[in-house]
Amino acid sequence: MSAPRLEIDLTKIQHNAGILVKRLKKRGISVSAITKSVLGSQEVANCFIRAGIKSLGDSRISNIEKMRHGQIKASMSLIRSPMLSQVDKVVAYADMSFNTELAVIRKLSIAAQKTRHRRGVVLMVELGDLREGIMPDDMESVVQSTLGLPGIILKGIGTNLACRSGVSPDNINMSKLSDLADSLESKFGVKFDIVSGGNSANLDWAMGSTDLGRVNNLRLGESILLGLETLNRRPIEGLHTDAFKLVVEVIESKIKPSQPWGKIAQNAFGEQMLFKDQGNISQAILAIGRQDIDPNGIRPPAGIKIIGSSSDHLIVQSEANDLAVGTEVVFQPNYSALMHAMTSPFVNKVM
Ligand SMILES: *Cc1c(COP(=O)(O)O)cnc(C)c1O
Repeated sequence: MSAPRLEIDLTKIQHNAGILVKRLKKRGISVSAITKSVLGSQEVANCFIRAGIKSLGDSRISNIEKMRHGQIKASMSLIRSPMLSQVDKVVAYADMSFNTELAVIRKLSIAAQKTRHRRGVVLMVELGDLREGIMPDDMESVVQSTLGLPGIILKGIGTNLACRSGVSPDNINMSKLSDLADSLESKFGVKFDIVSGGNSANLDWAMGSTDLGRVNNLRLGESILLGLETLNRRPIEGLHTDAFKLVVEVIESKIKPSQPWGKIAQNAFGEQMLFKDQGNISQAILAIGRQDIDPNGIRPPAGIKIIGSSSDHLIVQSEANDLAVGTEVVFQPNYSALMHAMTSPFVNKVM
């Protein structure tokens, strides 16, 4: 098989998804599976559906378009606020979008009225992580305006934490979300279907809190795919953490000095490198680079250490000096490396 390749174990992904769905169902929480890190892969989306998931979410409308064309049978949400320039596509392909700007919702309303279907909107609330979200005090006026727009159904509210700033979901910010849901519903005489508490970083809270309030949905990507909770990257009990493997091939293997020689300036990426003298080492080059992966996001097997990288080369040191040219080395990608590898056309995807 040709390298580099990302080997994707669909059985393990389905197992992970099924377990999380079951555990959260007992807590009254539905799972929306997030497909952005696998670029809206139809195979992975179908895995989620076989695991009992009814709703998918992606940050890119082109991934949703791809899943639609692949006849994926699920409700689909655009989880990043739509670009104004894309509202027609959003209305054409997504059942729902997560929104924070009235200007966008107004355009969605205009686009939706040209079709026969109303489009769902979930309003995102800012609760401290300082990524997307309407400030809580502004929610009332945004809800009022949204309710007045033809072609739009206000499905509910949601929030996203632990992404930009690492703000952890807890009883304080989650009850703020629930309180907002209650007060907006009573103020406007509506009922929200969805109160979406967050992403994989919410799992510990959702499994452990004695009061989940109104939260009835989580949007899960990394926890399903990599089997990790994402506040501390601990493995989740009963889940596979190795559904993805990155297989890379050795193209040079030599004994070389551990230190460069000559006058040292910046490297190709503007970095000033530091080297420790260890005498001669066994150095190998693998045919993958920063164009394809995040070199800080892949874990090598025991006895192999990543000591450098450039656009097309990954340089490793091998204790056992056993990396002959042609040898395949298997790495464990984290979420960042997974996303890069999925996006690179140079990395084969093997399901
Ligand atoms: C990416 C994303 C998610 C999923 O996050 P994971 O940490 O992979 O579970 C959920 N919600 C939003 C808005 C996102 O952008």
